[in-house]
Amino acid sequence: MKPSAANFRTLFIRTGLALSVCAAVLVGAVQHARAVDAFALLQKGDGSIHVDAARDLYLEKVRIKSHGIDFMNGCQKAKMNKHKRLPISSVPVIRYKGYTIVGSPYQSVPIKTGKNNNPVYFKRLKGALDIIEKYTPDSFDAISKTMKQKNGYIIIDNMCPSDGGLAFAAFVPRKAPEHFVVMVSSTLLLVPDLFNDYDIASQLIHEMEGHAVDFYRRGTTDETNAFTQQARFAERVGDKKFRDVNNRAVNLRTKVKLKLSTTGTYVESK
Ligand SMILES: [Zn+2]
Repeated sequence: MKPSAANFRTLFIRTGLALSVCAAVLVGAVQHARAVDAFALLQKGDGSIHVDAARDLYLEKVRIKSHGIDFMNGCQKAKMNKHKRLPISSVPVIRYKGYTIVGSPYQSVPIKTGKNNNPVYFKRLKGALDIIEKYTPDSFDAISKTMKQKNGYIIIDNMCPSDGGLAFAAFVPRKAPEHFVVMVSSTLLLVPDLFNDYDIASQLIHEMEGHAVDFYRRGTTDETNAFTQQARFAERVGDKKFRDVNNRAVNLRTKVKLKLSTTGTYVESK
């Protein structure tokens, strides 16, 4: 069955399952000379880059594997080409309040396929960054410092639902030169009636503060820390702001407890 916005949504609501986030690792040797060139272009600020440079920055030829259950290959399983290109020769890049966002050279999947959704992506990511800046300025500054020092940038990846799950975002550290990529799911940005800007902000906090800042501070990609940072963000924003209940502090705290539990189950005491 060919996926459409309607049946994807049905699937999503039926399962009620959103596997939120992951820290990803690279598998195998990486050749990214062009990415290094493209990366130099990013330092220049707003503008556009050649579509091939964007493909490198999107790690098109790099095999990425997420920790735990691998949700990075959902598109492959669903037989959807996540790298089907838009008919454009250059890709927009913006620098917003110190954060670099590289527009997508690809059509989105599994929804709004065929459209150039870059204006929507930028609008929503800007909205999420504004929320982080407003409610948690300390986090905003810590992240923007790490983004600058370690050359971080945000891309909008097509992360397809696989086995009823959906990866929302990922953090990928890279070397030579040292930089990192924060991948945000195109689906997260394109279904506003399921995910509002606070939900997007929550995912960015998980990846950028929970993983990126922590990775360069302690050298780990500890999920407990990432979910704890996300829960702290929710406490400061207020649970009512989120459309996705997975981003509520109470649910994130439970998730952290589950992770810390040695038995794998958590029973709330009365
Ligand atoms: Zn994570």
